[in-house]
Amino acid sequence: MRISILTMCPELLGGFLDSHVVKRAEKLGAGRVRILDIREYAGGSYRHIDDSPFGGGRGLVLRCGPVLDALKAAEEEGRAEGLGPAFRIALVPAGLPYDQKRARSLAGMEHLILICGRYEGMDARIYDHVDLRLSVGDYVLTGGEIPAMAVADSVLRLLKGNLKEGSAEEESFENGLLEYPQYTQPADYQGQRVPEVLLSGNHEKIRAWRLRESLRETLEYRPDLLRERDLTPEESKILAELSAGRKGEQ
Ligand code: SAM
Repeated sequence: MRISILTMCPELLGGFLDSHVVKRAEKLGAGRVRILDIREYAGGSYRHIDDSPFGGGRGLVLRCGPVLDALKAAEEEGRAEGLGPAFRIALVPAGLPYDQKRARSLAGMEHLILICGRYEGMDARIYDHVDLRLSVGDYVLTGGEIPAMAVADSVLRLLKGNLKEGSAEEESFENGLLEYPQYTQPADYQGQRVPEVLLSGNHEKIRAWRLRESLRETLEYRPDLLRERDLTPEESKILAELSAGRKGEQ
């Protein structure tokens, strides 16, 4: 897969391109990241990529022309590499919320194009040329580069060979729950002991403990995930016990 990132601040992505997840995907031949500098698609010596908004108001807006020319160039590069049609995403606060399910579906694409905005945002006509508008959360960042890295990282790590077999399936959100707590050496850190069951070597007891803790974390931090989940009888029983315990504490 190829991920093309369109940005006016390519320098912000330098460290990301050198990161383990990108290097590893490239080494495995599973995925690569290419950066296109939107400024290079702005005509004239001033490389004019922004302007004030029609109708008045503060700040500047990214112009259509340079962004759409950069988009066209990324699509052409993909085609020249023999890739299928690109899936084009504008990163904007006013987009669909990004989540693990979306990361999984994007990981199946041959060519993903991520467009980073800046300033007060991008000219809305750009949205007519994308397949999706995505938001990485209900807060406003200065630019789309951090969202682009979040999307690219979460997608690349799902590509075949990038994670140990089976390890993604146990992570938060993959099975609709938050992950159970993890511990490593030492078993006793200044009096804080690792739960005994994890030292027992009893796989069934460890599985049951992890499921219980996973449900406890989800109930505490993301109860909305439980409302969307078809619970197994074992999960229903554990949740009833956890809820009764919480009521008892109140
Ligand atoms: N005026 C815009 C608004 O109120 O929605 C915010 C513009 S923001 C300062 C500049 C750029 O950062 C956006 O065009 C977008 O590319 C990126 N950005 C900021 N927050 C984001 C988020 N939560 N998700 C995705 N992109 C975001």
